[in-house]
Amino acid sequence: MIPNQRIVELAAEVGFDSCGVSAAIDLVDEKVNFGNWISKGFHAEMDYMARNFEMRMNPTLIVPNAKTVISVLLSYKREEIAIHTSPPKISRYALGPDYHGVIKNMLFELMSKIRDEFGIVNGRAFVDSAPVLERAWAVKAGLGWIGKNSNLINSHLGSYVFIGELILDVEVEPSNVTIPNRCGNCTKCIDSCPTGAIVAPQTIDSNKCISYLNIEKKSPLTEQEYSMLNGWCFGCDTCQEVCPWNKKAEIKNHNQLQSKFLNELTSEQLLNMPEDEFNSLFNKTPLMRAGYSKVIDTAKRTSSKG
Ligand code: SF4
Ligand code: SF4
Repeated sequence: MIPNQRIVELAAEVGFDSCGVSAAIDLVDEKVNFGNWISKGFHAEMDYMARNFEMRMNPTLIVPNAKTVISVLLSYKREEIAIHTSPPKISRYALGPDYHGVIKNMLFELMSKIRDEFGIVNGRAFVDSAPVLERAWAVKAGLGWIGKNSNLINSHLGSYVFIGELILDVEVEPSNVTIPNRCGNCTKCIDSCPTGAIVAPQTIDSNKCISYLNIEKKSPLTEQEYSMLNGWCFGCDTCQEVCPWNKKAEIKNHNQLQSKFLNELTSEQLLNMPEDEFNSLFNKTPLMRAGYSKVIDTAKRTSSKG
């Protein structure tokens, strides 16, 4: 069995902020919780969430003979810029180069180091891109707990973290760490959500969530939905901004997640940007998920609010 400590060391060499390991077992508890969430329609128009249910719960259906899930975190906490705080606001995770590419490359590097040291290893790398319940795996790997705002919270990094996984067909010693839920009596995220989307601790009704409305919702927003955006034109960080664990988390400013242009982006530039410039500047950034028309339309309609 590959020693846990060596994997953690290799992940640190690659540049990840944290790493943990769990056995690739069935996600029994999540089957019930995720099933309930879907059955209540809290996934809204995100039909893909309801598909591949068994695959989400059983890693051996994604990687044949899967034995191990290695979870890694990379912090995107950064210095504040105006576009995070004055409308039209953009979520912190979105203002940088495509994190999928950055983290996948780091995961491939980690895989290559594991192969160099331990021989033939088969597996796949995942970043927010396949039916993988990444927060559940991160909890199982001892990297944190699920906060009442439904985000993974790491006691050192907070919740401004990207999560990635390697699912491998070799046995790695599990981390065997369980981090207790440290939300305690705090309800800041629930109290601060402008739309009441956190309907119970760890339960988001996407139909009311600004991040869903201004990124994922494919059908046109209703007037009432536009009025709910609270100044956000892409994503929403409100329930993370108020979290005490984010306030005390260290600012990492990882170079590979920085873009000089995006760091200096102003509301005026965004509001007046022609489509070809938008497509060229935001090419491969998370903003392309919503696309020019949706981002700019939402920006214009929310720029006087929030
Ligand atoms: S992202 Fe915004 S709208 Fe969604 S739950 Fe958090 S505070 Fe509420
Ligand atoms: S704001 Fe409070 S309740 Fe919400 S996730 Fe953070 S610590 Fe937990």
